[in-house]
Amino acid sequence: MIDAHDLVKHFGPTRAVDGISFSAQKGEVVALLGPNGAGKSTTMRMLTGCLEPDSGSAAIAGHDAVRARHAAQSALGYLPEGAPAYPAMTPRAFARFHLRVRGFTGKALHEAAELALERARMGEAANRPIGMLSKGFKRRAALAAAIAHDPAVLILDEPTDGLDPNQKDGVRALIRMMAPEKTILISTHLLDEVEAICTRAILITGGRIVSDTTPAGLISTAPDQSLAGAFRQLTRHSAEQTTARPARSRKETPA
Ligand code: ADP
Repeated sequence: MIDAHDLVKHFGPTRAVDGISFSAQKGEVVALLGPNGAGKSTTMRMLTGCLEPDSGSAAIAGHDAVRARHAAQSALGYLPEGAPAYPAMTPRAFARFHLRVRGFTGKALHEAAELALERARMGEAANRPIGMLSKGFKRRAALAAAIAHDPAVLILDEPTDGLDPNQKDGVRALIRMMAPEKTILISTHLLDEVEAICTRAILITGGRIVSDTTPAGLISTAPDQSLAGAFRQLTRHSAEQTTARPARSRKETPA
């Protein structure tokens, strides 16, 4: 359902993504794990068709993310970094707008919007302008819009960023609830999040995959048998390997 084939992306002299390949199937909750600047968001932006790779390709539900962007995005819900939204719209209007753009009308639109708002636990905040909401509610408004059309694939960039511990638990429970029917990719640098909800962890650093295994498999590689220990060991090793490589061309398309 998610296929990345040798994705490469430069920003000027920075090789942000340096040959990322992986596939994920229905039922998997895959963590894209790595330190800040590792290339997680850039990889997600290429998978979602928001950014064109310099080389390599990505596909969602069998549709190429660039050449068949419309079909790929129909099967996809994307929560971007920072969750941009229209500040004057309410979360309810924002979810409905997303659904209308995707061709929903009438009763189906109404029911899908209400279910998404309920699943994101928006409560009364669903009727207040997004610009006036707290960071946590803004994030959940964007999450409601991303899941509203019930896509087969969810790509969520730091889904619990800015949420308090109770809100984090709520979003993690929602991800677990949706997981059996979907393919879910989340980016995170929170190790407890990986253990709490993910079936698989892809660790990247310097734009490269340095480990692709289950959370338990990752833990077993660490001398101290902890995720933090595995993270430290694998990211240090790769940072030494991937410095001072030449840049290639830049090619970017608007979101
Ligand atoms: P992560 O999500 O893992 O924190 P990113 O994918 O955001 O990492 O960034 C990877 C690298 O690419 C970083 O060095 C970052 O500074 C750089 N980068 C990301 N987006 C841009 C951009 N639009 N312009 C220039 N550099 C960028």
